[in-house]
Amino acid sequence: MEFRDLKKQYKVLKNDIDQAMLEVSASGAFIMGKPVKEIEQQLAEYVGVKHCVSCANGTDALTLALKTWGIKAGDAVFVPDFTFFASAEVVSLEGATPVFVDVDADTFNISPASLERSIEKTIQQGKLRPKVIITVDLFGLPADYSAIRKIADKYHLLILEDGAQGFGGEINGKKACSFGDISTTSFFPAKPLGCYGDGGAVFTDNDEWASLMDSLRVHGKGSFKYDNVRIGMNSRLDTLQAAILKVKFDAFKRYELNDINKVADFYTEKLKDLVKTPFIPKGYLSSWAQYTIQLQDEKQRDGLQAYLKEQGIPTMVYYPKPMHEQTAYLDLGYLSGDFPVTESLCRRVLSLPMHPYLSMEEIIKVCQKILDYLK
Ligand SMILES: *Cc1c(COP(=O)(O)O)cnc(C)c1O
Repeated sequence: MEFRDLKKQYKVLKNDIDQAMLEVSASGAFIMGKPVKEIEQQLAEYVGVKHCVSCANGTDALTLALKTWGIKAGDAVFVPDFTFFASAEVVSLEGATPVFVDVDADTFNISPASLERSIEKTIQQGKLRPKVIITVDLFGLPADYSAIRKIADKYHLLILEDGAQGFGGEINGKKACSFGDISTTSFFPAKPLGCYGDGGAVFTDNDEWASLMDSLRVHGKGSFKYDNVRIGMNSRLDTLQAAILKVKFDAFKRYELNDINKVADFYTEKLKDLVKTPFIPKGYLSSWAQYTIQLQDEKQRDGLQAYLKEQGIPTMVYYPKPMHEQTAYLDLGYLSGDFPVTESLCRRVLSLPMHPYLSMEEIIKVCQKILDYLK
């Protein structure tokens, strides 16, 4: 059994993917070829925003947004404590300071109440200028944007939606990657919509920001590539990756998103009385980057993980360490106990095999083995 079965997906889509790759090879247009513009248009239309600018990976996508807003030393950027390192790393890379915020125990996403407390505290201390809230749509579930938008408006902050794991999610029919002032995603192979290497994109309705990010991703180009008007990056999506994405995006829309939600429903039905299963608020849709259960304590979690491994079932701990305990961030001076929800989650979460190509037999086996262990 695979944790995320990319080989099975390739088998199903092989003809179209091979064809798409061969066409790019024959075209010789490896950088900024036609498929790049095409996938950008398709993604923008699907998400329901005016602009999609593709780039080299989801981390660069976040960086492009922060550079566009001129985030710099002395700025505070609020980041959930329970996320992948890149969500905070990009802030430090611009010289700004990530201010960590605890998450909600049910949704795993940034807690609006903790966010507001954290903003107030930062203002009171008076050392940093609050500028941006980076929300993360963790494990495929959009964050609580109705509450977060109110807070952003109240304190005049921008929202940067880190939708690396969230692509395909929805709130009342509105799609993830449309909730931020700028939103980003990642096409890392294991994300809900992945390519065959690194890739990413930014989304926005703002014409000026979109054109700035388009410039920043190609060395700060001006009217043409050898007229450089600002300091930028080399962060383009390869034509090959765009061509592969077009095939995979079609499958994602036609059946993958639907099928992975069926897997989630089945897991939840079988497991809900045994463990704490993921909570999806009313009106929300997850794209299930992960299906993450919560065990009672670290001992039970580690025991279950070891048992499942023996049974040939791969699982992962996303994430074993809060942001504020990362070695690179020890100098920020946070203390153990500052983020009780995140600290507890890190000891108790376990992500199960999850992808749209899981067979019914595999799902049943996972559930049965969890039952066997916990009984
Ligand atoms: C994967 C991920 C990123 C970074 O994406 P890359 O394409 O690997 O650079 C950023 N934020 C979150 C929450 C992620 O899961």
